[in-house]
Amino acid sequence: MEEKKQLKKTYSNEEITVVWQPEMCTHSKKCWKGLLEVFDPREKPWIKLDGATNEQVKNQINQCPSKALSYQLNNL
Ligand code: SF4
Repeated sequence: MEEKKQLKKTYSNEEITVVWQPEMCTHSKKCWKGLLEVFDPREKPWIKLDGATNEQVKNQINQCPSKALSYQLNNL
């Protein structure tokens, strides 16, 4: 049986890399209702890390109920 490949997109700045796994998204809209300056589904790319501080981005990602959004610290 063929294993389905999970689509993963990454968005980085100097400090963090945001990982987006669209197949996991439950479309709760929490991310863009909470921080539209960074998460804007009308834009391409839809994640723009320079729209807020890293702290704000991390806080918003921690509220993603499906874990479709996650982040890694680049220096770890
Ligand atoms: S917060 Fe998470 S589940 Fe909700 S729309 Fe954003 S990525 Fe999808």
